[in-house]
Parts: sequence; structure tokens; C-alpha cells
Amino acid sequence: MLDFKLTPSRREDQPEQAEDQAYDLIIIGGGPAGLAAAIYAGRAALKALLLGGVTPGGQIANTDRVENYPGFPEGISGAELAMRFQSQAEHFVAKLANDFVTKVDFSASPFVVKTHSETYRGRAVIVATGAFPRRLGVPGEKEYFGRGVSTCATCDGFFYKDRRVVVVGGGDSAIDEGLFLTKFASEVTVIHRRDELRATKSLRERAFANPKMRFVWDSVVEEILGEDTVTGVKARNVKTGETSVIEADGVFVYVGLIPGTKLFEGQLELNEQGYIVADAHQRTSVPGVFAAGDVHSPDFRQVVIAAGAGAKAVIEADRYLAEAAGADA
Ligand code: NAP
Repeated sequence: MLDFKLTPSRREDQPEQAEDQAYDLIIIGGGPAGLAAAIYAGRAALKALLLGGVTPGGQIANTDRVENYPGFPEGISGAELAMRFQSQAEHFVAKLANDFVTKVDFSASPFVVKTHSETYRGRAVIVATGAFPRRLGVPGEKEYFGRGVSTCATCDGFFYKDRRVVVVGGGDSAIDEGLFLTKFASEVTVIHRRDELRATKSLRERAFANPKMRFVWDSVVEEILGEDTVTGVKARNVKTGETSVIEADGVFVYVGLIPGTKLFEGQLELNEQGYIVADAHQRTSVPGVFAAGDVHSPDFRQVVIAAGAGAKAVIEADRYLAEAAGADA
């Protein structure tokens, strides 16, 4: 059960913070949740810092087309939507740094957030570090990553013009990205460990109707094969135990996501899958620290929902800061 008391103020041993490194709010993560939070923080007149990593937009930057974000009736490329989010955030946030956080200390307020070169302090923090593609963990995957193995069809699909590719997984990402790959590849073979897809009906229907898509059911990839680059995969049928080699020039792995929470182990309560535990108001186990987007919820993974959660987190952070200021007065 989360306890939402105010976090104790400054520790005795903590030095006075340099004014330019002190913020009302530090937002960690530059995907839709973090960028929306930055916009809302500016509108709430909070002195906010956004530490956004190196890819503005997070996962959407690697998404071919976003067709379900309101305001874009024709759809918009993920990369362009990400740039638009970022340029709007730049208008509002006190500082936006495309920098990685290396360490946090949430034991007392103001909270400490470190990058390789800087130490910042924030009276409140929003964690919006998203989620990352899970790897298969089979021989050849690491070795051929970037030489035929990829987790981003939008980035790498173009290199597979008239080539054969394999897609591993049966969820929305596998099928969506597999369909995208049919624009380039001569054949897209989906290898899935069960005999039905988890992907939504509309994607399933499009995939089954696409003459370039073929399916290898009940099968797992045991090894990615190659010489200089990928030449295929060794697959095993989980029902019969039979193994076979499927020739391909590229392997795209879409077997789910893992949350970006390594930094927060021991600092915030995480659930069994490693996601940050947060309530409906985005409050984490540490008062004054909020979570938004895929880092705390694997259930929706939609840009509009992440952006909404970022906005909610700022509204809650603003309330928390006002209450804390009242308690200190
Ligand atoms: P996901 O829904 O978790 O699907 C992962 C897929 O990988 C499942 O088919 C799973 O098999 C398979 N898998 C997991 N571990 C595996 C392993 N070790 N070996 C082989 N296969 C393995 O992940 P996702 O497709 O990345 O989607 C994540 C979320 O984003 C979902 O909520 C999805 O709806 C959303 N999303 C939406 C869209 C869209 O709206 N167009 C696009 C992309 C993603 P099982 O089915 O057997 O579990």
C-alpha cells in the first residue's frame, strides 16, 4: 500500500544547492509522457528541467506512422510527431538537456538526480523513462545486432528491399512492423511461439490478407545464424520438437518490452515485472516522485495515454509542491 505523506526536507549533510542546478521539478525521460509533462510544467509556472536522453520522442521516434493521435487526421510520422512535441516543450521548460541520468537519490527532498557531468536537485520528480525492446537472448542475437538483427523496422526496413526477413513475436508490434516491412521485403516470415496472434483483430486481418506475409506457428527461434551478416534462423517447433533453418537476411525481434527502471531499483517500489508502482494520480511510493507513461503501466502503450499521464503527473506535482510549501511556511 502506498503512503502519501510529504517527503522530509533536506538532510543535515546535504550542501546548499547551486541556484542554477535547483529546480521545482525534474522530468526524467523525453518520450511523449516526459515532453507533455514539460509543456504542462511550463504552463504551471514551475521551474522545470527535462532530462530527455538522446532520442527525442522515445519509442515514437522509431514508429513509422502514428494514425491515432488526435489532431492529425491524415496521420503523422512518428519522428515528426516527436520533433513537434520536443519543440513545443522547448518553449515551456526552463532547461531541456538531451542527457542521460546515471544515478538518483530519492531518500529526501530536494531529490538528487545525476548525469555524467551534472548534479541536479528537484523538489519534485517525474519519472517517464519508458520501456525498451526485450531481446530474445539466443546465440547470434548480440553478435549480429546491427548486422541483420534489429528491433526497429522503421529505422532499418529500407535496407531489406527485395530481401527475405523474419519477424519474431505475435503482438501488435510484431504484426504492425511486419506489415511495414512488406513495403520493402520480398517475404516477411512471422515466427510465433503459439498458434494464434496476440495482435489486435484489424492488424491480424491485414497481416493474413497480405501476400508477402507468411507464418511459422508454435515455434521459437533457438539461434540466429550468419557469416558476416545474418543468413537465417534456427527455429524449433515447440509441439513436435523438430528444428528447421529458415533463411533470411534480416531478423526483427518484437517480443515485448521491458521497463526502463534499473536506475530506480531500491529507490521506488517496483512490481514483479519491474514497472514502477503508481496510483491513479501517478504518485509513486516516494511522495514528491511521480511516474508517467510506459514506465509504470504496460497496459496501454499509447502516445495519447502517455501524454495524458505526463500532464496528470505535473498537476499532481504542482499540488504536492504547494502543499509542501504550505507545510514549510
Ligand atoms: P506484447 O503485446 O507483449 O507481445 C509480445 C509478443 O512476443 C507476444 O506475442 C509474445 O508471445 C511474444 N514473446 C514474448 N516473449 C517471447 C519469447 N521469449 N520468445 C518468443 N516470443 C515471445 O508486446 P508488443 O507487441 O511490443 O506490444 C506492447 C504493447 O504496445 C501492447 O499493449 C500493444 O497493444 C501496444 N502496441 C500497440 C500498437 C498499435 O496500436 N498499433 C503497436 C505496437 C504496440 P505470446 O503471445 O505467446 O505471449
